[in-house]
Amino acid sequence: MTKKVALITGGSRGLGRAMALALARDGYQVAVTGRNEQKLAETARELPVGRTFVADVTDPARTEGIIEEVTRTLGPIDVLINNAGIGGGDEGPQRLEDMDTESWWRVHETNVKGPLLYSKAVLPTMTERGHGIIINIGSYISIRPSTFATAYASSKAALARFSDCLAEEVDEHGIQVFCVSPGLVLTDMTRNLPFIRDVPESRFNQPEDIGALACRLATGKYGKLSGLFLHVNDDVDALLADYVHIREKRLYELRLHNLGGLVE
Ligand code: NAP
Repeated sequence: MTKKVALITGGSRGLGRAMALALARDGYQVAVTGRNEQKLAETARELPVGRTFVADVTDPARTEGIIEEVTRTLGPIDVLINNAGIGGGDEGPQRLEDMDTESWWRVHETNVKGPLLYSKAVLPTMTERGHGIIINIGSYISIRPSTFATAYASSKAALARFSDCLAEEVDEHGIQVFCVSPGLVLTDMTRNLPFIRDVPESRFNQPEDIGALACRLATGKYGKLSGLFLHVNDDVDALLADYVHIREKRLYELRLHNLGGLVE
């Protein structure tokens, strides 16, 4: 049987790498992208079957080229994971008054334009095949206000809404879309955050947790949860069993409360 194909943006390190290795262990042929050639090469050595691509996730021409090459050399993409992301500019997360506009916008370009480009590029083939899974790596920060987060949180909120709108659009083609919060994991992105030393150890997740969830969603068994905002600690089997209630009550989605009936 032909092995399934997964493409993960930002798979050179951190959570992307963890998901790449988990999917590879599950028998997928895995393609990963990233800007750092050396880090990509290190990940490639651990992938039994796969490809790596040096690419900036915001580059439209490069995106098209990668999708074509993955499809030609490995096969059509079954699972796309939009994982590449940044938390701020070179200085990391900053208050709006301290952050230059270009760096702020760059966060949106990476965290929103990247997923837009890759999703749009895989959709024609997924639609043709009547099958495909898109997993967007969101953040819990998108649902609560936080200092230092005007760029990051608003980009991840946009990604969450992008995900549920897209899920509705492509449902008729058998394509599933999820926005997944990976919890708080020690990676290059988080290890120097000002508050990180005060976080109790029990609050952290491990990279393997998001790897395991990606593998579960990749099976295609969770289609009834498509469009929902899932957290890595969620028991997706319990959610699946309860999906009628979840849909009826519009749980696990981005929404405002107490609008006096404005939103039904
Ligand atoms: P990380 O260790 O900093 O890794 C980020 C990955 O994204 C790297 O592989 C990086 O590769 C790639 N990347 C960044 N900008 C890129 C660009 N313009 N083009 C292509 N690749 C790019 O961060 P992480 O913690 O693993 O985060 C992964 C995802 O999880 C992000 O979307 C992040 O927002 C989300 N997340 C993480 C946490 C957490 O606690 N760690 C919590 C919530 C959400 P190169 O540098 O080689 O390009």
